[in-house]
Amino acid sequence: MVVVLEKGITPREKEDLQQFLSDRGFQVREVVGEDETIFGVVGSGGLDHREVEMQPGVARVVPISKPYKLASREFKRADSVFPVGQIKVGGNRLVVIGGPCAVESREQILECADIVSSAGGVMLRGGAYKPRTSPYSFQGLGEEGLRYLREAGDQYGLPVISEIVSPLQLDVMREFVHVFQVGARNMQNFELLKSVGAEQRPVMLKRGLSATIEEWLMAAEYLLAHGAEDVILCERGIRTFETYTRNSLDISSIPVVKKLSHLPVFVDPSHATGLRDQVVPVGLAAIAAGADGLIVEVHPDPPRAASDGPQTLYPEQFEKLMRDIEALSPVVGREVARRPVPRAGSFASVTTTPVDGASSDARVVAFQGARGAYSEIALLRYFDDLQHEVVPRSCDRFRQVFETVLAGDAQFGIVPLENSLMGSIHENYDLLLQYPDLTIVGEIHIRIEHSLIGTPEASLDTIHTVISQAPGIEQCRDFLDAHPDWTLTPFYDTAGAVAQVRDSNDPSLAAIANHRTAELYGMKVIRQGIETNPRNYTRFAILSREDRAERDQSADMATIVFSTPDKPGALFECMRILAERELNLKKLESRPILGQPWRYMFYVDVELPGSQAQFDEAFVALEAETHDLRLLGTFKGSRGF
Ligand code: PEP
Ligand code: MN
Repeated sequence: MVVVLEKGITPREKEDLQQFLSDRGFQVREVVGEDETIFGVVGSGGLDHREVEMQPGVARVVPISKPYKLASREFKRADSVFPVGQIKVGGNRLVVIGGPCAVESREQILECADIVSSAGGVMLRGGAYKPRTSPYSFQGLGEEGLRYLREAGDQYGLPVISEIVSPLQLDVMREFVHVFQVGARNMQNFELLKSVGAEQRPVMLKRGLSATIEEWLMAAEYLLAHGAEDVILCERGIRTFETYTRNSLDISSIPVVKKLSHLPVFVDPSHATGLRDQVVPVGLAAIAAGADGLIVEVHPDPPRAASDGPQTLYPEQFEKLMRDIEALSPVVGREVARRPVPRAGSFASVTTTPVDGASSDARVVAFQGARGAYSEIALLRYFDDLQHEVVPRSCDRFRQVFETVLAGDAQFGIVPLENSLMGSIHENYDLLLQYPDLTIVGEIHIRIEHSLIGTPEASLDTIHTVISQAPGIEQCRDFLDAHPDWTLTPFYDTAGAVAQVRDSNDPSLAAIANHRTAELYGMKVIRQGIETNPRNYTRFAILSREDRAERDQSADMATIVFSTPDKPGALFECMRILAERELNLKKLESRPILGQPWRYMFYVDVELPGSQAQFDEAFVALEAETHDLRLLGTFKGSRGF
């Protein structure tokens, strides 16, 4: 059962309640949520709910109807999010684990770690004890393999995961792995589950070859009931009559399990298909279906792999998979988890004024708009994988975002630079020039998905007036045209429009904004996804003060700006400088120079090559051919678009 505690429960009452429950043979687990704190209570004894409800400090008791308790959504409504080393698993992130089926040698696993990390994977897999069908097949390197795996993970900043097949291996494995993997063949090895659970370390639990979803969740319950808190479920295909593929991936288990459980759900497209050509499409399908991550086999030389070669990706295929995931992630509202290479040294060097009761090391990030604006959604996504608390600070105007960062009242600012349908947001390009002490330290693309939002009583029939930022209205034309009697009124921002609807408490008024904004303001989503063109993305730049930003080691993009002399071929000359050094131009934008009619500044985004020297050389050459050349920032680009 779930015992919801009263907000004002005293420590003494809490202790007494805990005692009351454990005296009756129940295990109690406290879960502190954003809205409420609960006790998850499990055990075999009978207990009258009313008796618990009468205890001091108890708000209410909710029975859990499912046989699995700690694993169920009824126990915990919010998605479980937990750290594995420096990486966070669950929630909004997509975590990709790569590596060979088995560790074969020190050199092999080091090479695999290099492939995985340079393509953007964030965890390293590698079996050391292999549960093979034939006793004559390669069984794994055991402890030696674990040592190499950990060394490779440490060298490339990747937490490591490896399979445990017997409780006897715990003493050895404990020293090396960040995540224990319990394989499909052992999903119902209850003694193994109990011992691994008691380690209280993250566990990935593969679905058994012929396990039902309920059996799988019951196996997770064993882990949780014996002490594990951080369990990743992994769908890896089940046995069916089909023989073409190694297993049949039960893709529908992803949304089903995400509905039934708060635990993150990963997919292993390698074991699910058994054929490398199927791994990328099936992996992408899993992400489209809502998976929180993938675990994929990759090897520098798959045909020579000691096990599972036919399903193991070549390095190029793994890279392509990562690029495709980048492209897909904004469509499903996710961010690909990255290794936390410091994006900007300013994280450590800036002290902040605590805001709204947040801890003093929280990063204040300025954005334009009311709470819930697309800029705020973008900044929350961007800073999500950094393990720092973020305090969004709302600003009325874009200029105020720049001012706030410059004044040191926020370490970072975020501004939209362009929208895939509407083009550039010129005001921000102009502001970038006017604030030379600020620099771009990052970027993020998010999908803009609009909803029609009203008061809790509102419906399509009660609405007379719709308010939103003008582009928001424009982007939902087809939907709005079907309601010609509605009055459409521009408003200064989308989230502000939702606040206005709430304040009016008028069911005839509706706003167009992101559906999450409705949640934030306690309003109702009347219709989700009303934008005419769903391929609607906005690119945001993250700004920091130049004197506080350190070079981002993973930067792969640069934005520069310059004007050219007024003579034939001047811009061509600049392009030649870039072309000759094989610098890939991603974007060229021109803006009128204020006060100099018909003269223009050119904003150029270029990919940074592996060697920084190439770019530095181009920069020096450009200085000779241009006026007012400036580097607006170097940053890690959002790939895939
Ligand atoms: C593995 O991941 O190497 C493995 C053996 O997987 P499964 O348990 O899903 O077969
Ligand atoms: Mn394998």
